[in-house]
Amino acid sequence: MNKKIYLDYNASGPVLPEAVDAMLPYLTEDYGNPSSIHSMGEVAKVAVENAREKVSTLIGATPDEVIFTSGGSESDNFAIKGFIQSYNEKRIHVITSTVEHSAVLETANFLEASGVEVTFLKVDRYGQIDIDSLEKSIDENTKLITLMYANNETGTIFDIKSIGKLARDRGIAFHTDAVQAVGKIPIDVNRDNIDMLSMSGHKMGAPKGVGALYIKGGLNPKPTPQIYGGHHEFDMRAGTINVPSVVALGKAASIAKDKLIEKGERVRRLRDRLEAGIKERVDHIQINGDIKNRLPNTLNVSFGYVEGESLMVDLDLAGIFVSSGSACASEDISLSHVLEAMDVDPIIGQGALRFSLGDSNTEDDIDYVIETIPQIVKRLRKLSPLYKKQ
Ligand SMILES: *Cc1c(COP(=O)(O)O)cnc(C)c1O
Repeated sequence: MNKKIYLDYNASGPVLPEAVDAMLPYLTEDYGNPSSIHSMGEVAKVAVENAREKVSTLIGATPDEVIFTSGGSESDNFAIKGFIQSYNEKRIHVITSTVEHSAVLETANFLEASGVEVTFLKVDRYGQIDIDSLEKSIDENTKLITLMYANNETGTIFDIKSIGKLARDRGIAFHTDAVQAVGKIPIDVNRDNIDMLSMSGHKMGAPKGVGALYIKGGLNPKPTPQIYGGHHEFDMRAGTINVPSVVALGKAASIAKDKLIEKGERVRRLRDRLEAGIKERVDHIQINGDIKNRLPNTLNVSFGYVEGESLMVDLDLAGIFVSSGSACASEDISLSHVLEAMDVDPIIGQGALRFSLGDSNTEDDIDYVIETIPQIVKRLRKLSPLYKKQ
């Protein structure tokens, strides 16, 4: 079987062909160091500054507010750790949520272990936080609120505008991990009162290992640099930047700017077709996430009485690549931290799959998936003692 139906775009995706074309010359011919004074350095520098302009335009920022990094994880670490390190106060309080990506959660855990007070906001069964609870958790030591724009597992989109307004009104800095949102839905850092925003190349059609952090001009204090060395990136992040990948990121950003709505509608139609097809043909399922506020490309479904891992492996054999919502920790299967935070029933939650769509997917692909899943689920359920009992 040579089928290859990739439905795991939230994990990573191909580099857009236009982005590959744009970056290639900087690997082979225009390989100067952007810090060099000679004209080959200048060529690289111009390319980087062009990319900075394009990335900033996509999120409604200005070029001097964008710092290139090695990806989403570095941007999250830089924003959160760096910002808190800029304070000397004895008591510092940070607010985040239980459903963040590990790049934020583990950073928050690290800060907590070093004496910072951290509130991990709970979510409801749709994966949403409650703005009133957020407001109530603020105290006089709260310096930073860090909440993701859109969840990588369920696609649930937080009410970033309300969070941003609340943070701004209370004089608290607001960082958002927007890795899954940038390039998928329109973002405007000024409309949403965002002070810092993380993004990643490989989640939006650029290569792995490149990303950016937006830092609002005038944000005070600024995050403390995490990498010291030369005077790169406005003295905020040392190291010769990955020019080819940054050029590709710029290209991907300008394509997103032009095509985001159109591409979003296309994948939304496919995603809805998949969702409807699964609902029609498989019983004992549950859609996880906030279907009213959800990324257009993401579908998280629990299949009762089967294990997500087994489903995923069987789909893999059929040439369909998805992500399972459960993490197989040795013997016992545990729910993903996101589904657990949403209080999803483990019997149902263990069979969770994430489908995340992108440019390469077609209607035929989706129809093949809709045909294949019921057969696999049926076979797996035959083996389930719990299914027989119900
Ligand atoms: C992928 C992802 C990250 C990490 O980005 P990398 O570039 O892979 O380090 C952070 N946050 C979210 C929400 C993600 O989906």
